Amino acid sequence: MLFRVQSAAVFGIRANPVSVEVDLSSGEKLNFLTVGLPDTAVRESGERVRAALRNCGYYLRAQKITVNLAPADLRKEGSAFDLPIAIGILGALGNLPKEPLPEHLFSGELSLDGMVRPVKGALPMAVMARDSGWRHVVVPEANAREAAVVDSVRVYPVRSLAQVVQLLSGQAPWIPLAVDRAQLLAERSSYDVDFRDVKGQYQARRALEVATAGGHNIALIGPPGSGKTMLARRIPTILPPMNFEEAIETTKIHSVAGLLPESKGLVGTRPFRAPHHTISYGGLIGGGTVPRPGEVSLAHNGVLFLDELPEFQRNVLDVLRQPLEDGEVTISRAAMTLTFPARFMLAAAMNPCPCGYFGDSTRECHCTPPLIQRYLARISGPLLDRIDLHIQVPAVKYRELSQQETSEESTAVRERILAARRIQNQRLAPFGIYCNAQMTPRTLRRFCRLDSASEKQLETAVTRLGLSARAYDRVLRVSRTIADLEGRESIGASHVAEAIQYRALDRTYWQ
Ligand SMILES: [Zn+2]
Repeated sequence: MLFRVQSAAVFGIRANPVSVEVDLSSGEKLNFLTVGLPDTAVRESGERVRAALRNCGYYLRAQKITVNLAPADLRKEGSAFDLPIAIGILGALGNLPKEPLPEHLFSGELSLDGMVRPVKGALPMAVMARDSGWRHVVVPEANAREAAVVDSVRVYPVRSLAQVVQLLSGQAPWIPLAVDRAQLLAERSSYDVDFRDVKGQYQARRALEVATAGGHNIALIGPPGSGKTMLARRIPTILPPMNFEEAIETTKIHSVAGLLPESKGLVGTRPFRAPHHTISYGGLIGGGTVPRPGEVSLAHNGVLFLDELPEFQRNVLDVLRQPLEDGEVTISRAAMTLTFPARFMLAAAMNPCPCGYFGDSTRECHCTPPLIQRYLARISGPLLDRIDLHIQVPAVKYRELSQQETSEESTAVRERILAARRIQNQRLAPFGIYCNAQMTPRTLRRFCRLDSASEKQLETAVTRLGLSARAYDRVLRVSRTIADLEGRESIGASHVAEAIQYRALDRTYWQ
């Protein structure tokens, strides 16, 4: 007897329909065969399913059980097929009144005692179910909230195989999980850090506001303990709030990476990812036989923070070029090629020299100029080219630390940034871009015209500081953002002067 159950296989951030077919035939001993490109975890499913069935009171006789996962040319991986396979076996044994309707999707790993354990990628599965016109999604309780954010599908959380049997045999009612999507997004979009907690560091805060307003990448240079990480961690709190589409996309990535906390359901805050400098190529970009998203994708719609930038492997940093340019990464493996979204704001931090105290007023630096040069040269030119602002973050003075007055809240900063972003969006939308950092040379010439006074000032700076032609463009871009923050149509000398300050690594004394 053949019994069929619908399920899904997740690749990248997309799910594909998989039909689980179970056939029983007589045999001399119990024989369990899984066909249809299963990986090891899927093949081992037989053992888990048998134990789970036994612990629910179903004993398998000596017979041949064939599980076919169709379509056969699609790779199947992981343990999420346990539940549909168990249902298929029970059905084929005649323990269920009828096959579940084809518009029901089942996914879940089984523990040996018959409990249903969480799976990766429940959200993409629910999206696939909706797009295929399937109405019902049965997933582990721990994944139900993330699946339920998808509209037009009913999501049923299940805890155990026994409960699924009750549902399928009509002994328990189907009750979908109700989720108020708008409320969920509102609940999930508050941050646990705020710029209010940062004492002093006025210059750095201003630079971060400018960077965030224009979508510019930024590098923070300062001695250990100056608060670079603390500052960077607060960037997401001043970025525009995520809309529902962005939240779903970010959640999908975290869902397939298996990083979604149970209770969460939806990633409503912009991610902040801070991988350690020992991270591998695969860890940063994504990898594995069936590729999983790396840090650049986990930072999608948020911030990728690279602390101790010169300590990263050079070849690891070089792979950042594609995501920084295209907003996505393509990972090719023998098994398949997958593309993951990876649009993030890059924030990097570094010490000014190997010991960390170059230019510091409180401690002496013994690093020789060649040593410092070698240290700085570790950051590759192409990467540095994509960082519009580099600023010095000095150690905070005691006076600033001990002051009583509170700093400005993130929401207040964010209001100014939103206003500046609206101006940019209006101006740049016809060109298919939405913030100043994305301006091409053509749009740059068009929207960053300088009057003669500002032009002269910039020329002087270029000569005095020895700025490159590339740096010139970056100053223009950032000047545009500063003018937008002020709501000015034209770029003035004060905007250019401020933007020039944000080129710390271009200053000749450092090289
Ligand atoms: Zn030093």
